[in-house]
Amino acid sequence: MQIYNTMSKKKEDFVPIEEGKVRMYVCGPTVYNLIHIGNARPMIFFDTVRRYMLYKGFEVNYVSNFTDVDDKIIKRAIEEGVDSNVISERYIAECKKDMASMNIMPATTHPLATQEIDGMIDMIKTLIEKGYAYPAADGTVYYRTRKFAEYGKLSHKNLDDLRSGERALKVSGEDQKEDPLDFVLWKPKKEGEPFWESPWCQGRPGWHIECSVMSKKYLGEEIDIHGGGEDLVFPHHENEIAQSEGCSGHEFSRYWMHNAFLNINNHKMSKSAGNFFTVRDILEKYDAMVLRMFMLSAHYRSPLNFSDELMESAKAGYERIVNSVSNLNFLLEGERAADLTEAEKALMTELEGFRRKFESVMEDDFNTADAITAVFDAVKFANTNVSGASSAAFIEAVKKEIVELSDILGLIVEVKQELGDADIEKLIAERQQARKDKNFARADEIRNELLEKGIILEDTREGVKWKKA
Ligand code: AMP
Ligand code: ZN
Repeated sequence: MQIYNTMSKKKEDFVPIEEGKVRMYVCGPTVYNLIHIGNARPMIFFDTVRRYMLYKGFEVNYVSNFTDVDDKIIKRAIEEGVDSNVISERYIAECKKDMASMNIMPATTHPLATQEIDGMIDMIKTLIEKGYAYPAADGTVYYRTRKFAEYGKLSHKNLDDLRSGERALKVSGEDQKEDPLDFVLWKPKKEGEPFWESPWCQGRPGWHIECSVMSKKYLGEEIDIHGGGEDLVFPHHENEIAQSEGCSGHEFSRYWMHNAFLNINNHKMSKSAGNFFTVRDILEKYDAMVLRMFMLSAHYRSPLNFSDELMESAKAGYERIVNSVSNLNFLLEGERAADLTEAEKALMTELEGFRRKFESVMEDDFNTADAITAVFDAVKFANTNVSGASSAAFIEAVKKEIVELSDILGLIVEVKQELGDADIEKLIAERQQARKDKNFARADEIRNELLEKGIILEDTREGVKWKKA
């Protein structure tokens, strides 16, 4: 498996630290509002990476944080006149609902920054002891970027240019820094803000230290994959590396993966620019699977421009898969030969080719766009080669390919028809009639059909009762 590593700017073979195991950390959202579909891009993409790794037999420890202490959360809390944890708890719950509707698996651990303050204080202490950090007179603690010789290795930036740029922009209060690129590890509280005790002042952590600490606590000092949107490369991930490697003295993450932006009119979708659609907005009009399909229809390192046309095309594509599976299910309900015919045996090689293609494009840095094409190829194959004359084994095999490959992408394509109460009553009446007619085979068939859909029948003296399993 090849992964493009932002660190080396090359595709590299994936070799995990521990055989058969993947330790993965993906930076999560700051929770002060409903998530927008830009935030959904890394969530959907990295969930797909995780699903593919699971499919390949890896055990995946997947950690994704919620940033639940931040200026924007505090601002929102002040506007609403509530504590900032009221805001963060509300939007964490909403975010989890959105994730569930997009079929994003819950992380192995979803740590909260506010629950990990002790670990942050410990790491800052270590960094000070090792000379990588220094407290200023007002209790702010800064990271000493010049001390970390490899600072800038991820973002490949010219640090001298950055330094002189930042020097020109220096704002008041920043003159406590030894270097313009030094960044905050701990900052003093302001009136009305949440704060914690620390050796330096009552205050709160900087954003970057959160991820270094949570990653270390839940995954260990060295991890396999660290992911997030490309806006996080600098300074967030660069700073995480400086902190984690300064502290441990060895490599933090083997592979750095970054998704490109979800744009709107070719500008990054963002809350601060106000040019965003929340996941909820989109779900009013489209099934969440259509949104997932849309996100995966481009390679993750290519920018994706949101448009109605692309959403409509994702919708048509998704429905094509769903309809094909539903047609296969319909055919499976009828009477037919069980075993593969000779002609079908010959077709099996072609069918197996779709999975091979799917795997080969996924192995090539997770080319989900081409993986979807492989699923479409299987659908086309189904529509061309499956008919009322096909054997059950053949239909099952075709269906399995389409459903399983879609499932690796997190696309639910076998839509189970929920039975309404009226449908259930109708089937029960039909079963009663069949029994009266002594057509016990049909009566049993109906009972089994209902059972498959989770409805249990109970014959009582008062008549037939039913309940959900
Ligand atoms: P934030 O809440 O802004 O910290 O973002 C959480 C995650 O969403 C990070 O991995 C960001 O890089 C990512 N993200 C935010 N906006 C976009 C966007 N428009 N396109 C792709 N990823 C984004
Ligand atoms: Zn992070």
